[in-house]
Amino acid sequence: MAGGGDALVLMPTGGGKSLCYQIPALMRAGVGVVVSPLIALMYDQVAALREAGVRAAALNSALSWSEAQSIERQLRAGQIDLLYVAPERLLTERCLALLDAVPLALFAIDEAHCVSQWGHDFRPDYIRLSVLAERHGGVPRIALTATADATTRAEILQRLSLSGARLFVSSFDRPNIRYRIVDKRSPRRQLLDFIRAEHPAQSGIVYALTRAGVDETARFLKAQGLNALPYHAGLSAETRELHQQRFIREDDLVMVATIAFGMGIDKPDVRFVAHIDLPKSIEGYYQETGRAGRDGLPADAWMAYGLADVVQQRSLIERSDAQADYKRISGAKLDAMLGLSETTLCRRVRLLDYFGEAAEPCGNCDNCLTPPEQWDGTEAARKLLSCVHRCARASGFGFGAQHVIDVLRGKRTPKVEQYGHDRLSTFGIGADLEVAQWRSLLRQLVMRRELHVDHQRFNVLTLTDRSREVLSGRMRVLLRRVGERPAAARPGRRRVEEAQVAAGSAARPAGQVTPLEAEVFEALRAWRAGVARERAVPAYTIFHDATLRETARLMPHSLDQLRAVFGVGAAKLERFGAALLTVIAQAAGRSNGGGGGN
Ligand code: ZN
Repeated sequence: MAGGGDALVLMPTGGGKSLCYQIPALMRAGVGVVVSPLIALMYDQVAALREAGVRAAALNSALSWSEAQSIERQLRAGQIDLLYVAPERLLTERCLALLDAVPLALFAIDEAHCVSQWGHDFRPDYIRLSVLAERHGGVPRIALTATADATTRAEILQRLSLSGARLFVSSFDRPNIRYRIVDKRSPRRQLLDFIRAEHPAQSGIVYALTRAGVDETARFLKAQGLNALPYHAGLSAETRELHQQRFIREDDLVMVATIAFGMGIDKPDVRFVAHIDLPKSIEGYYQETGRAGRDGLPADAWMAYGLADVVQQRSLIERSDAQADYKRISGAKLDAMLGLSETTLCRRVRLLDYFGEAAEPCGNCDNCLTPPEQWDGTEAARKLLSCVHRCARASGFGFGAQHVIDVLRGKRTPKVEQYGHDRLSTFGIGADLEVAQWRSLLRQLVMRRELHVDHQRFNVLTLTDRSREVLSGRMRVLLRRVGERPAAARPGRRRVEEAQVAAGSAARPAGQVTPLEAEVFEALRAWRAGVARERAVPAYTIFHDATLRETARLMPHSLDQLRAVFGVGAAKLERFGAALLTVIAQAAGRSNGGGGGN
């Protein structure tokens, strides 16, 4: 890319995206201009670059007049190599004139998917960035994004006038993330069980659709003794900033948030991302789950979803006063997300396929680890659809899911008797299936548009054109069998660790984590949390989880041995080495082991 020419770079976050413009910008003469929508992120990047000796600066609305003037002076004097600018700032006449006056190396447009009106990160200013092509036709432009399906990709190319751009796509696979999607029953309880069983006292993000859902879930988790905070656009700017800072610094905080949270957050040790409501699209799901496990260690993407999610998301689209093609594209995106949720095949294959990438079954998702059973629901589906039809015909209006299931199962509820539905031919013909099975069947029929839930009329069930295909027996209905699937052991973790060993970071083959290792690791984490609090810095800047794990595994007895651990540099060895050895000795002594050292 240093050779010039426009480019579109699609690369998952954590894949070294910023190097794609930093290196060519420094290799070429003139200033590299980086357009970034996030002021906080800008400061982090500029600070890190300055630390590395690069002459970088940021221009945005948070600067005072004199600070901004000083940066402009340095720019004109050729003393700045990389300039970060917020889009609204860039588009001011003053800034455009400034850029006319200095030699430019390139433009990098970060988070380029913000041009997409279909996405929730849409920023109107981004569309106006096409002005760069008009004013500086000869300066290469690189658009970068961590997620883009075919529609968004085309939109980026068109809106940013990048028609001749070369396309660079790196793999979107995040092998250390385990994908799991479960049936939603009591989501908060399911979420709590998941966190307690698999990620106690670890960093995680829980996404919910609404502010009320966020507040209630955060309160619930807190009441259960977890370190949890809410984040959504309804909170004051100060509260949001405070919560975000705490999330970055602490290593056991669960952030319950709407999708307003997360862009630009680059915290490596997020161990899980949970969704208690269905995301609108696979892009959103991929972007949000992609915030887990950036350090490469095992992480979980967990989601609970049910019929109400399908109905709610569809009605949000239908009720919006957007144009027809917006609704059509949003509907297609939602259907793809539903397909991912219902598939009985590898989740990762489906996910990557959405981004145009071929893959083999991964061995690290719920469907690979515990393949779901399928059953032929054709007969059951015909019974259900016919029951929907008969209830409506007998009474002259439609009924909701609960009532139809009651009739099928032969339950004489007051409502069933009131309408005389116990005299229908479909009364009791479905007593052989559990309520949960009927609900699952119903959800899957709705998802496949073989049954419709009319949200404008009390969620009444109605038949569709496709219902006829099922009723006539022309269409088979293959379904995934529901039921609590046991939490599988974690062979995927071993796979990731083996990959790390193969990459040369360890001296002896990785096996299971011994109880002693686990104890030493927890002791090291506790020590790290204390040091991080004392210094008011994020825990991961002291040592990454990977380094602590490796230390716990190798159990070094001396500074020399500690030096060999990946992630322990000379400076950290000097600062923390002695303390680390003490923590290890104490933890090893306490658990009475001693056999853990080589
Ligand atoms: Zn899989």
